[in-house]
Amino acid sequence: MSVWADVVGQEAVVAVFEAAARSARHEAQRRADGVRPEPGRAAGAGSAMSHAWLVTGPPGSGRSTAARAFAASLQCTGPEPGCGSCKPCREVMDGSHPDVVRLATDKLLITMEEVKGLIGEAQRRPWSGRWRVILVEDADRMVERTTNVLLKSIEEPPPQTVWILCTPSAEDVLPTIRSRCRLVTLRVPPAEAVAELLVRRDGADPALAARAARASQSHIGLARHLATDPGAWQRRRRLLEAPVSLRSVGDAVLAAAELVEAAQAEADEATAERDAAEKAALLRALGLEGDSRVPPALRAQVRQLEEDHKRRARRARTDVLDRAMIDLLSFYRDVLATQMGADVDRVNVDMSQDVDQVARSTGAAQSLSRIAAIEQCRARLRSNVAPLLAVESLMVQLRPQA
Ligand SMILES: [Zn+2]
Repeated sequence: MSVWADVVGQEAVVAVFEAAARSARHEAQRRADGVRPEPGRAAGAGSAMSHAWLVTGPPGSGRSTAARAFAASLQCTGPEPGCGSCKPCREVMDGSHPDVVRLATDKLLITMEEVKGLIGEAQRRPWSGRWRVILVEDADRMVERTTNVLLKSIEEPPPQTVWILCTPSAEDVLPTIRSRCRLVTLRVPPAEAVAELLVRRDGADPALAARAARASQSHIGLARHLATDPGAWQRRRRLLEAPVSLRSVGDAVLAAAELVEAAQAEADEATAERDAAEKAALLRALGLEGDSRVPPALRAQVRQLEEDHKRRARRARTDVLDRAMIDLLSFYRDVLATQMGADVDRVNVDMSQDVDQVARSTGAAQSLSRIAAIEQCRARLRSNVAPLLAVESLMVQLRPQA
């Protein structure tokens, strides 16, 4: 199966990448034949290939999957770039190709050290592949100072280096970076395409996959979560009942506490095992047995790892809460569409009664202000405001007003 198989509903993007990969192959061939590239711009203007790419698209649209497939197509030695069956294709897809360096962070911020490391990697010549590909999955998680360090390497990469940066939108990186990259934008994939992927790749039940794709509004990660975790629907339902069930400010505060606690528990579950394994590995590497005391000289390293784990746990909790916010948004989107008499498919088919009830008892202006409140809560959660405060204030605003 070709490397593009899992890049669902993105025909235009795949076409751009395929053209680039063909052009890149031509360029690599010329280089192998000893034709010298023009200095500083191996891929000239007008070429389908570029040495810096910015892959954008809404969360869950499959940015990193698309970027990885593109990296594979650049290294591919099969008859058509991205064949999926040659050794380089398979290596890139399973993450073991020595010339595809990928930075995916589950922390809130990409550190300066990480970026410096990448720049070093970008300067090397390819070990075995045709290109040295540096893939940064969350390029929006960089502070300005860090981005500036990256800029020079992106501006004048060695002739065999390709940078691929992924962000939700082009506005998430500095204009100086943006202007040096070729922009590729993913769309929200059609729900049918997402459902089909869940059935094929994750073995989900077709009916459940269709329901999950729709409820998640084609967010691939969320859809998979709903289609494979039996508790997920229940949690979602409880959350979406909040707007009709909260009677008082007290209820709202309780609901907020419950949501934040549940998010914490889910995040802990997702990270605990990995944290423990990493700590054990570090202690072993330092020559320490399981429970022995860490000598003072080594404490800094252990503390560093623990700090990383705390950051990762925060990021995981932020992600879980953000998912809840997306679900709430979908509810009020349905409410608003109903109030406006718009003829669009409902996201929350299974909550029709609640949607109707809220649509009848409130006005469109109120729905809009609630949607704004949810967006504001999302922004506050991302900016490290205490989650409980942000969610409490939201729940109070969502509560039915008599
Ligand atoms: Zn291949």
